[in-house]
Amino acid sequence: MNVALVAHDEMKDTIVGFCIGYESILSRYKLYATGTTAKRIMDETKLKINRLASGPLGGDQQIGSLLVTQDIDLVIFLRDPLTSQAHEPDIQALIRLCDVYHVPIATNLASAEIFIKALDRGELAWREVRKTKIQRN
Ligand code: PGA
Repeated sequence: MNVALVAHDEMKDTIVGFCIGYESILSRYKLYATGTTAKRIMDETKLKINRLASGPLGGDQQIGSLLVTQDIDLVIFLRDPLTSQAHEPDIQALIRLCDVYHVPIATNLASAEIFIKALDRGELAWREVRKTKIQRN
């Protein structure tokens, strides 16, 4: 299972806290994150993260590309719902690709916590569901 982590600026402290709290679970998976999010998490935890470009500079699109190649199984994207983002089209594209490829995406802390606990229990068999869907297309 490969997990992508993204947080808008107002949510950076929240994703760092999330990663500290669930570090032992997250450490079992291959992690990707957009530039600043990755740096903050790596500065404050022992997690190893594949650091992509910063979101506004194409990092969200890099995650989109990884979704297309089926290299991401779960996206935790803590969005700031109160601030407009210059790269909103990239954000929408990322969310759309999660739907295209049937990849679960958590856009707030509550859903992120549910997903991480499900991941820990081995309940995220989304890859199998996704394969079935793609074969049908
Ligand atoms: P960042 O990008 O981690 O480089 O801040 C996140 C985003 O705004 O999409």
